[in-house]
Amino acid sequence: MNDSKVPKLALHWQILIGMVTGGVIGVLLNLNAREYTVTLDGVEAGSYTRVELQDVNSMVLISAFAGSEKVSSFVVGKSPAYSDITHSDMESFRKDEPELYRLFQDYGRSWARWVSDWTDRLGDLFLRMLKMVAIPLIVCSLTSGVLGLGKAERIGRMFGRTMGYYLCTSFLAIVTGLLFVNLIQPGDRSESAVTVATDAVVKSAEPISVMLFSQLEKMVPTNPIQALAEGDFLSIISFTLMFALCALLVGGKTLATVRNSAEAGFEVMMKMTMAVIALAPFGVCFLMLNATAMNGADVFIPLVWYMLTVLLALSFHACITLPLIVKLIAKRNPLEFARSMSPALLTAFSSASSNGTLPLTMASVEKRAGVSNQTSSFVLPLGATINMDGTALYEAVAVLFIAQLNMTEPLSLGLQITVALTALLVSIGAAGIPHAGLVMMVIVLQAVGLPLEMQGLILAVDRVLDMFRTSVNVWSDSCGCAVIDRFNDSLSESAPA
Ligand code: ASP
Repeated sequence: MNDSKVPKLALHWQILIGMVTGGVIGVLLNLNAREYTVTLDGVEAGSYTRVELQDVNSMVLISAFAGSEKVSSFVVGKSPAYSDITHSDMESFRKDEPELYRLFQDYGRSWARWVSDWTDRLGDLFLRMLKMVAIPLIVCSLTSGVLGLGKAERIGRMFGRTMGYYLCTSFLAIVTGLLFVNLIQPGDRSESAVTVATDAVVKSAEPISVMLFSQLEKMVPTNPIQALAEGDFLSIISFTLMFALCALLVGGKTLATVRNSAEAGFEVMMKMTMAVIALAPFGVCFLMLNATAMNGADVFIPLVWYMLTVLLALSFHACITLPLIVKLIAKRNPLEFARSMSPALLTAFSSASSNGTLPLTMASVEKRAGVSNQTSSFVLPLGATINMDGTALYEAVAVLFIAQLNMTEPLSLGLQITVALTALLVSIGAAGIPHAGLVMMVIVLQAVGLPLEMQGLILAVDRVLDMFRTSVNVWSDSCGCAVIDRFNDSLSESAPA
């Protein structure tokens, strides 16, 4: 009876198709929306190749370009979102910059703007659904995972191994980044070409000790309910862990009740997550369309060597180092494992948020790659917060690139080691949200005494690099699951009947 059924395309293919479709439509729209000629009272007032909206220190900066030259710019309001510009902002804009105002109005009516706005909203809806399931999924999954481990010392061992894996792979990623940036020397190749305006987002950084201590403080939430409401991952993980450990210590009927409730909650949340995942091809399509419709490719040109270095180093880490670890230590086929993880990796790429992707990562690791819930519930939420190989590598390359642009001499070995260590700490402290790595870079720049404004140079291409490094972050967390799962004592000691 079922013979006539049309075979369903595997989820990862559906997501890939969604991603490519969104990307292609976005690029086409972008290309079409590039030419503007402003005519005032029948006279050609100016010819602009593009108009750009930029968020600089929470102000919207509207700039018009003729060729690659910025001919006019205007700061509007204190709002980070284009759609939030107020009427009075627009009024002063109209009075002070009539040409640009007209241009902006044309732009406002353009298809690219309209489609981009709507795909932004729809993509955001998908991310909201993922965020909606994330917290209850982590709580139920971590509780049932820890209770499944059964003994406190097993949890200690798992924690030690997980931390060991995180540190080793982040360190390998940083070394890879340093090797590539020293080999390619993107800063020396770009010197004359980099003329991008430096409207830098400069915020003074906290000392690194304060940043690390505040991570520690988060592990002791004064109000766990508030931490839940605010979605603070580290606080939620540490409280849930303590709760589950205490339930183990209490034992008996109480333990059975907590275990049953956690398992029931986990099953329900997994069902909900799978329902959200079914929408991933559409969500990813909208996110990609939005990312490509508004970002012109011309900003890439002066930074092409820099981008190439980051991408080559990320590819080396993702396609050689991590698969070798999966093959040799986890004893799994890396290609098959990557295929199982592809829904999460593609979503990480489109959303540039490892926190946002977490429910999908958990579902893919368990349902598609067959990793136990005990391992994934422990390794993934912690990894999404503190294990960021892609971010660590990116910090190292970006800071050395800035150093190469700034100095005639290469950065000394001692300072490169300082970059490596601070990049590692920064990757632990960075949140799994878009652009977190860029914001945290201030700390690394400060550590080696480089000018913070130089960060403005790489601002324009951060989004696209963020997409790649986030996928590497999620891929490393997933490989960590495969590795830790192989050594999961409770699986070998008490394999289920
Ligand atoms: N977007 C990255 C993530 O979510 C963090 C970063 O900006 O590097 O993993």
